[in-house]
Amino acid sequence: MYDRSGPHDPYVRVRGAREHNLQGVDVDVPRDVLAVFTGVSGSGKSSLAFGTIYAEAQRRYFESVAPYARRLIHQVGAPKVGEITGLPPAVSLQQRRAAPTSRSSVGTVTNLSNSLRMLFSRAGDYPPGAERLDSDSFSPNTAVGACPECHGLGRVHRTTEQTLVPDPSLSIREGAIAAWPGAWQGKNLRDILDTLGYDVDRPWRELPAEQREWILFTDEQPVVTVHPVRDADRIQRPYQGTYMSARRYVLKTFADSKSQTLRAKAERFLVASPCPACGGSRLRPEAMAVTFGGRTIADLAALPLTELAASLVADGGAARVLTEDLRSRIAPVVELGLGYLSLDRATPTLSAGELQRLRLATQLRTGLFGVVYVLDEPSAGLHPADTEALLTVLARLKAAGNSVFVVEHHLDVMRGADWLVDVGPLAGEHGGRVLHSGPVADLATVEESATARFLFQRSPAPTRQVRKPRGHLKVGPVTRHNLRGVTAEFPLGVFTAVTGVSGSGKSTLVGEITDEAAGVGRVVSVDQKPIGRTPRSNLATYTGLFDVVRKVFAGTEGARERGYGVSRFSFNVAGGRCETCQGEGFVSVELLFLPSTYAPCPDCGGARYNPETLEVTYRGRNIAEVLDLTVESAADFFADSPPVARSLATLLDVGLGYLRLGQPATELSGGEAQRIKLASELQRVHRAHTVYLLDEPTTGLHPADVEVLMRQLHGLVDAGHTVIVVEHDMSVVAGADWVIDLGPGGGDAGGRIVAAGVPEAVAGAAESATAPYLTRALT
Ligand code: ADP
Ligand code: ADP
Ligand code: ZN
Ligand code: ZN
Repeated sequence: MYDRSGPHDPYVRVRGAREHNLQGVDVDVPRDVLAVFTGVSGSGKSSLAFGTIYAEAQRRYFESVAPYARRLIHQVGAPKVGEITGLPPAVSLQQRRAAPTSRSSVGTVTNLSNSLRMLFSRAGDYPPGAERLDSDSFSPNTAVGACPECHGLGRVHRTTEQTLVPDPSLSIREGAIAAWPGAWQGKNLRDILDTLGYDVDRPWRELPAEQREWILFTDEQPVVTVHPVRDADRIQRPYQGTYMSARRYVLKTFADSKSQTLRAKAERFLVASPCPACGGSRLRPEAMAVTFGGRTIADLAALPLTELAASLVADGGAARVLTEDLRSRIAPVVELGLGYLSLDRATPTLSAGELQRLRLATQLRTGLFGVVYVLDEPSAGLHPADTEALLTVLARLKAAGNSVFVVEHHLDVMRGADWLVDVGPLAGEHGGRVLHSGPVADLATVEESATARFLFQRSPAPTRQVRKPRGHLKVGPVTRHNLRGVTAEFPLGVFTAVTGVSGSGKSTLVGEITDEAAGVGRVVSVDQKPIGRTPRSNLATYTGLFDVVRKVFAGTEGARERGYGVSRFSFNVAGGRCETCQGEGFVSVELLFLPSTYAPCPDCGGARYNPETLEVTYRGRNIAEVLDLTVESAADFFADSPPVARSLATLLDVGLGYLRLGQPATELSGGEAQRIKLASELQRVHRAHTVYLLDEPTTGLHPADVEVLMRQLHGLVDAGHTVIVVEHDMSVVAGADWVIDLGPGGGDAGGRIVAAGVPEAVAGAAESATAPYLTRALT
């Protein structure tokens, strides 16, 4: 018999995995397949795919390339696993990692910008007599390429009469020039104008235009002898005063002032506008004089990728090779439903799902083989019409000789898998076991699996009475991004789903619903942005739960004996916290050539508090141990403490029972952050009508979790509120009272309301990309 774990063993074999909630998991996953990891939220899928398999591959990689990294690995801790054999090197495309810098764009993430610059350098049309430029000269991020006026930022700050004089009915004496400094300096400028013969008592708008122009914008700095008017209480002597226009004052303060407050005040009077020298292109004139097919590099970078690909044609030579290469690299991005993006689009404006799909498309060209790609819900933000394309791209990565391991909730992606690893049955300590590892069809017989219920037994379409709206909220006309004068009516007091392919304009439209626009009560946007950017914020601090818990601790006998108040139990202020890590529990470890990483604090071992604070216990647990409880166990622990118990109950209701109270904000996924926000909303009782906006609330949720979440959201509607969701999950859309479908395509091919009505009506709309999928969900 051949050696199972030898080089020819086609399996990745994991033995005794105990990371987080994993209960000593043994699992074999074949290499060179598309394997999908499923299970309810918190069941342990990510702990297995990322926390164990990817982390172990990463550890081995570090050890092989940088033996000196051993110390680091030792500090960070290897994943808790007995043994893994057959493990190839791994590449992670996880969504929640790596905050991109603001200078990064679609072009830099995909590397397409580099190639486009190469094309302009080698094969661009140059003006007669011009020297050929190297490719760096086409980059606004290099000294040779950047526009010298705006240093490659593309924008300049200017002042306008409207910003400097917000209320033109006032006279100068009454303070018309809001941008002027206060106190003596402001009076000084006024008195100089008075001395120069300007009427400082006439309403601003009645002054002649050329006077207003001079007062606000002149570059002259006349010096005059000022005879100050007598104030009631004091007499000033004549002095020499120098005039400075409002613009000059604001720009100088903004550029030079050492005072943060003064600079911030000056900024309020500035408007940013495209740099007049480069027109916002951020490039030097020499680079902008070069064209390809009649367009500058900036023109091309602003085109949607579909159009960019169409304009990259060349007959022969170097240009042909370069354009063909560019087109073939743009193709997978377009296939993944992102053809509406342009190269100059800044990455911070992309959703996590868009960014991950960009990275995925880019991977197709790296020529890597024999690696395992680990992905986190690549279907996030993807319309069902594009799921097919996603599967094709994943299949191509596999065909190139790689393994593709994907954490997914989308049933169509599960169906397209070669292998399914189902983790469960429930979350946290009630999960952490592998219920099934094998071909998809074989999951059907696994009784315990929540996934099997949705994958094989069609849950009957919800039979709920469609609600009648209690009025409408009119939005628009909206002209923004790809929307051109779109008007929409959102019914009030019902559940509305906004649908459409990626880039069709859903978020743009829903983003227009604000308190002012609505005038129908409070508007609350429950988004997926992190609840905090540092490990100092966590579930307990965000929801206010921790304030109550600290009060409980301060009220214990132990605390009173020692004279410890509420703040003693904070890890954010000195007193009770560990000073080595200043209450973070972690210290940052920097290593040459490697991304910096965190290791547990050597003094408190991650507890965050000093030993004296930890001596105080409530019902046998100290404050660090309480932060370590899951929401579910905390609910038992604090059952006698009504305010704590209430807030825990709402967290349980939104399906977050598996999270630990002290779980740092930085470890939470977008979907978890969103549900925490929703729970804090649910916790306050709002009688006044509220409009809740949610962008793809099902991201990161198993169909079983989606059911729980939908009960909550429909409960809000039943209590009289309005819920509007942007959603791709057709089971959610089918259960809505009203659907607004945007499209038909993304970017310029979209931006219209294709259909609006009850789900059945939209399912019948001819032009709608959503209709066929909605029909399937309704029958
Ligand atoms: P899933 O991917 O299935 O949603 P996870 O693997 O993220 O689940 O989480 C499984 C369990 O491990 C949960 O109880 C979760 O709270 C816990 N967990 C996740 N990350 C950490 C962490 N960094 N430290 C401790 N526990 C964690
Ligand atoms: P959806 O929510 O349907 O995916 P969006 O409303 O996000 O669509 O996008 C609609 C269009 O507006 C797309 O062409 C997109 O590229 C563009 N867009 C969205 N956000 C921005 C932004 N911050 N800057 C520039 N263009 C944007
Ligand atoms: Zn410029
Ligand atoms: Zn410490």
